[in-house]
Amino acid sequence: MHRAGRFLVCARFQTRNISLTMSLEKAHTTLVNVERIKYEGTDMLKDPISVADPEAFAIMKNEKLRQRRGLELIASENFTTKAVCDALSSSMTNKYSEGYPGARYYGGNEHIDKMELLCQKRALEVFGLDQELWGVNVQSLSGSPANFAVYTAVVEPNGRIMGLDLPDGGHLSHGFFTPTRKVSATSIFFQSMPYKVCPKTGLIDYDKLEEDAMLFRPKVIVAGMSCYARHLDYQRFRKIADKCGAYLMSDMAHISGLVAAGIVPSPFEFSDIVTTTTHKSLRGPRGALIFYRKGVRSVNAKGEKTMYDLHDRISQAVFPGLQGGPHNHTIAGIAVALRQCITTEFVDYTKQVVANSKALAERLKELGYALATDGTDNHLCLVDLRPLGLDGAKAEHVLDLAHIACNKNTCPGDVSALRPGGIRLGSPALTSRGFKEADFVEVANFIDKAIKILLNFKDQSGKTIKDLKEFTAKSEAFNKEIDKLRDGVEAFTAKFDIPGNDEF
Ligand SMILES: *Cc1c(COP(=O)(O)O)cnc(C)c1O
Repeated sequence: MHRAGRFLVCARFQTRNISLTMSLEKAHTTLVNVERIKYEGTDMLKDPISVADPEAFAIMKNEKLRQRRGLELIASENFTTKAVCDALSSSMTNKYSEGYPGARYYGGNEHIDKMELLCQKRALEVFGLDQELWGVNVQSLSGSPANFAVYTAVVEPNGRIMGLDLPDGGHLSHGFFTPTRKVSATSIFFQSMPYKVCPKTGLIDYDKLEEDAMLFRPKVIVAGMSCYARHLDYQRFRKIADKCGAYLMSDMAHISGLVAAGIVPSPFEFSDIVTTTTHKSLRGPRGALIFYRKGVRSVNAKGEKTMYDLHDRISQAVFPGLQGGPHNHTIAGIAVALRQCITTEFVDYTKQVVANSKALAERLKELGYALATDGTDNHLCLVDLRPLGLDGAKAEHVLDLAHIACNKNTCPGDVSALRPGGIRLGSPALTSRGFKEADFVEVANFIDKAIKILLNFKDQSGKTIKDLKEFTAKSEAFNKEIDKLRDGVEAFTAKFDIPGNDEF
């Protein structure tokens, strides 16, 4: 059937009145009527991607080139290792294994079971956890689904959660909504109330959290952040959670690599549940871990014990509640990444991450920039551009043109999340390329040069980000300066190797 005819059939399907009488066979022959091409390689099942799909291969090569020649400062990103890349492209991806080790819905899972158990064992080891007291689920596909699984496990539909507000450094999956829209599904299926940072100091307002928590009575309080440069006071969170009868769930997605290395406070001592992504400072594949307590939850005055029932609840929420078959290649990749986390080299890496972040923050301050919370304890800093009359989106765009990758971010006190006042900068990725403190001083200098170019052209480049983009696409004077800066950035990054596969 030609194109118009095919469209007609689709349209009729949508009207639903004749679809029921149309035979399945006919629908089949019409819907798959596409022009075929002849495979151009020698063996579609064995050819490498460069031969099997040159178009996709070219995109991948260009992405690798972009990663190699730019300054990667997105705080949630990292360059994972060759060994993890190998795991991701292994035959582990072929296997269906719905269920958990020893209790699967399919056969042939003896090796898959071993890998999942190895991953669990390493996850507990890396964070120094006793397997009598903690369990871990390694199947969740990424950070947001992991958090959703936890709420599904322990909060009834429409039940209450509290998390750090997104514009204050929290994460979407901690319940984000706006006055007009429930943005995150965590705010659609649960009621969420945010807590905030103090607009002046940029520090979490724990007193207000305590006050609000006693009124709101959440089932879960989330201690976690995507943009907060200071340590969290987990002990204080614990006290508040106990006072209002909530579970404390710590989401250490950004800092889990630093926690694993033991160089920042660990949330485990004070938390009931800990979630993390595995692809940020932990430097593994994209995935997530959910840790939960086992054993005694509390003892009352009569000496009667209440036990945790998180193992069953969380296991069931992940599978079959929210997911089907686990991504076994990812679980293998996480296991490999965790093996690397217990090395002394990884501890050195994370120490360097924090030293580099501090060097970057100090140099930016020296150059006159304002930082939220006036500095950093971890792998990231938040540069407040409002004192310069700039906003984050404009800075992000101009930095991007110079091959410096970062992201616009709201600053404490920003009224609108639509016009964030700053940029978030992180050190994990470049530290994986071997950058040291002195290199991060250079990085700060490059950033400063880009911001100065933006400032120089401020009066000509219009008001909105759209105006600026039109201006930067056209202005020769601007591009002459930014090209020079980009050449400098590329010459600088060319000196550093990059983890993973060399070519793509
Ligand atoms: C990145 C992040 C997540 C979510 O991760 P995705 O894998 O992108 O869904 C969740 N929580 C926090 C605190 C994060 O920083």
